[in-house]
Amino acid sequence: PPAINEDFEKVGEWADQARRLGVRANAENFEDASKARELGAEGIGLARTEHMFMAADRLPAVRKMILAENEEQRAAALAEILPMQQADFEGIFTAMKGLPVTVRLLDPPLHEFLPNLVDQSVLVKELELTGADAAKLEAEKATLAQVKKLHEQNPMLGTRGCRLAMLYPSIPEMQARAIIRAALAVLEREGETVGVEIMIPLVAFESELKAQRDIVVAAVEDEFEKAGKKLDYLVGTMIEIPRAALTADQIANQADFFSFGTNDLTQTGIGISRDDAEAGFLGAYVETEVIEKNPFESLDADGVGQLVAIGVEKGRATKPDLKTGVCGEHGGDPASIEFFNKVGLDYVSCSPFRVPIARLAAARAALQA
Ligand code: PEP
Ligand code: MG
Repeated sequence: PPAINEDFEKVGEWADQARRLGVRANAENFEDASKARELGAEGIGLARTEHMFMAADRLPAVRKMILAENEEQRAAALAEILPMQQADFEGIFTAMKGLPVTVRLLDPPLHEFLPNLVDQSVLVKELELTGADAAKLEAEKATLAQVKKLHEQNPMLGTRGCRLAMLYPSIPEMQARAIIRAALAVLEREGETVGVEIMIPLVAFESELKAQRDIVVAAVEDEFEKAGKKLDYLVGTMIEIPRAALTADQIANQADFFSFGTNDLTQTGIGISRDDAEAGFLGAYVETEVIEKNPFESLDADGVGQLVAIGVEKGRATKPDLKTGVCGEHGGDPASIEFFNKVGLDYVSCSPFRVPIARLAAARAALQA
């Protein structure tokens, strides 16, 4: 990490006076959020929640949540997870001292949450062969049946983003409750306002966002009523699927803000798997200068960038005061930041250690404009 000294702070201050773009950070725990604020972040633009679900001690409850055979079982798993989620969010809200925090609802890589199909099949075979533990065999067979049902050939284009939440609405409801309980607890303890922004991932249709927004708003309002307290909050969406960018005028009906997910927008816009980005043809393309830069690192301004420009324009046509930002990796890339400044985004969000670079790049973009 860069040493933070007086000169560094001074240059940062000059940059802050010159720039128009806000600079936020992507962080999902107290430590990273604190580091981000120290480096000048003006909020959290993306707190991913899926890593919280992947913690080893939570995985059993998370698996129960997904593999539940009925809503009663799922509710029991969610009741286990809710207080942990609340503690996660309290950490981030406390670190950010009233600055806005965009919490993204679960964007599952389902295959990473669930047992591997082959491993589970082998386990069942082994139990069948030994014939020792009948109860365990039955339980593992039931899990195998569920895993088979949920198995996908192409998980990155499968039950990701809000799609799991569409199937099981009690999951986003639990997360919305945890966010609000955390916010109210921090408000009470620190006496500081909390900038709550709830974000729905991987939306492609206005109807999806409306359904998710309704669930979130109902849960939030119920928490307010129970607590006898309220606070301001926003509900918005990621724009990371070309269809969402192209229909941003419709999507904006349901959104208080847009955050462009340029990682997925690049994956789906160019049709390149982000998991395989470095290997094979893409690396060769960059090396042999078929394309100038890796589009996952620096925005393809002529291509995917147009989807961002269209999304901003159409979104604002419906809602002139729509807040817009970017939280893909490009949010910390100077050349991409210049583009985001040009198309009129309100802020960029990047990993904490890129915040100082983003502040400088945003200033340069504003001065050059
Ligand atoms: C994105 O797709 O750009 C994004 C920020 O979300 P994630 O990287 O978590 O898919
Ligand atoms: Mg994404």
